Amino acid sequence: MTRVLVVEDDPQLVRALVINLQARQYGVDAAPDGATALRLAAARQPDVVLLDLGLPDMDGVDIIRGLRGWTRVPIMVLSARQGSEEKVAALDAGADDYITKPFSMDELLARLRAAVRRTEDTPLVPEASLFETAGFSIDLLAKKVVRDGRDVRLTPTEWHLLEILVTNPGRLVTQKQLLQEVWGVSQSTKTNYLRVYMAQLRRKLETDPSHPRYLITEPGMGYRFEG
Ligand code: CA
Repeated sequence: MTRVLVVEDDPQLVRALVINLQARQYGVDAAPDGATALRLAAARQPDVVLLDLGLPDMDGVDIIRGLRGWTRVPIMVLSARQGSEEKVAALDAGADDYITKPFSMDELLARLRAAVRRTEDTPLVPEASLFETAGFSIDLLAKKVVRDGRDVRLTPTEWHLLEILVTNPGRLVTQKQLLQEVWGVSQSTKTNYLRVYMAQLRRKLETDPSHPRYLITEPGMGYRFEG
């Protein structure tokens, strides 16, 4: 059974989430505040965490950092905060996805399935598992990226994106393909996720993120990895 930890202080939303998740055979734990969330995450080892950023006792971003200290469990942020700064802070801290309230339950469930699938996927081992560029090296088998002799920490979502691009070297991968593969959605309105994650990958991998050499944007179409 897939276990979901719902961290949310709005009892009505918690109820709606619990009912919908249990109806789809998820096991659900709910935490109304950050301290309970951290305790339950350790005790129950959920497969995915739904996290409200505005909690009574802690900022959601601190909870993400706390969790990322010891677990790679997918974290999906639910937030009424619209600003892209909030989004970037949550994603930088290690969240995998970000859903703005109010959201449709169908979309939330689709993205939850995608998040769980990402961790369950045992990717096919490609012929070549080691990719070397002048700036960094990627070991797909060991799931390791090394830049300047140091490990680069990637979130599961960043890793998934990079893996798709790297295994299609020199080829255009469309926005639609990436959205479908990584988030399980196809709406072109979600291309802002791609932009945010690609910007993060570039910050971690490119010498000059504003003039990328490896992770190339094909405007209006998609992305390409140049090895
Ligand atoms: Ca709240």
